[in-house]
Amino acid sequence: MKPRIFLSYVHMGGSERQWVEEAFRSEWIVPLGPNVDEFERRLESYLGASHVVALSAGTAAIHLGLVGAGVGAGDEVVCQSFTFAASANPIMYQGAQPIFVDSEPDTWNMSPELLVRAIEDRHRVTGKYPKAIIPVHLYGMPAKIAEITEIAEHYGIAVVEDAAEALGSELNGRKCGLFGEYGCLSFNGNKIITTSGGGALICRTAEEAERTKFYATQARENRPYYYHNVIGYNYRLSNVCAGIGCGQMDVLADHVERRRHNHAFYTEALKNIPGVEVQQNGQPGSDSNFWLSTILIDPATGKEPEALRQWMAAENIETRRLWRPMHMQPVYAEAPYYGDGVCERLFERGLCLPSGSNLTDDDLARVVETLTDFFKQ
Ligand SMILES: *Cc1c(COP(=O)(O)O)cnc(C)c1O
Repeated sequence: MKPRIFLSYVHMGGSERQWVEEAFRSEWIVPLGPNVDEFERRLESYLGASHVVALSAGTAAIHLGLVGAGVGAGDEVVCQSFTFAASANPIMYQGAQPIFVDSEPDTWNMSPELLVRAIEDRHRVTGKYPKAIIPVHLYGMPAKIAEITEIAEHYGIAVVEDAAEALGSELNGRKCGLFGEYGCLSFNGNKIITTSGGGALICRTAEEAERTKFYATQARENRPYYYHNVIGYNYRLSNVCAGIGCGQMDVLADHVERRRHNHAFYTEALKNIPGVEVQQNGQPGSDSNFWLSTILIDPATGKEPEALRQWMAAENIETRRLWRPMHMQPVYAEAPYYGDGVCERLFERGLCLPSGSNLTDDDLARVVETLTDFFKQ
């Protein structure tokens, strides 16, 4: 059996261990400390952001973004349907109602037209506008975020931008995560960089960053005894994990470059297979990190993504189906949905290819060859 090729795998740079050892040497083995501060500074400098708060997960970042936006019980929150459940679940944590919106075909992300339709219709039905909007830069692809933030501003709705997969992606020279009131990052094991598990919330002001830290440390008031006015969470990143993050920042730019290289390789190598299309930047000024390279298979080929996935698996190559939309999940069956079939078709037709930053060109060639064989049979 040939060695396994993973979809997206941990890729250490080398300096991570020193930061972690420093945490041990200085006995900063707690959910704050010098590595956390340094990791936040490095993220701020990379992103061009003024305030980044390191957290225990990307999901925690989305949750605290919603808390910061004032989302509570009885509110409605519009969320992209075509995403991972972690984008939507924090809406439920807050006792709010998710309203799902379809994607548009250019970027596969939230359709600005359907967003307007959803906002207007919710106002008609409930007499209120939604409290927040969660667009996602899925697979690293920048969403039509300029249109979305303009719509949000028009209605006075906060944008909590899910950039968990889009660290390093840019639209018109501006990094994803900087467009909304809050931007959310993830450092889970298979993301662009990892802290084993972790996330961050990008805030616009020092006050919002301070409030985020306050909520992330059990909402403990500044008194000599434990005193709480509001419900808090235990969401800060450990100083040990932040050390991994500090080291990963040394190689972040390389990782992004390498993933873009994977994408360019697939684009070139697969262009002669009829009915197979590698996803490309979906709007002018878009520069995706191509966290995952994805393909769509034309139904005219008579081939199904699931059959291809199994074919690749038989050759020890891991691929993955596209996200199954949230409005198609049993747990969200009751949530209102505004769509016209785009993300359902993507789910039926698409597949994610191995995209890790540690893949060699030989690995990529093996993926291409195996995939090409599938379409020949
Ligand atoms: C990974 C991911 C998250 C959640 O991040 P965690 O760090 O795993 O909690 C949220 N949204 C999207 C789109 C993701 O891919």
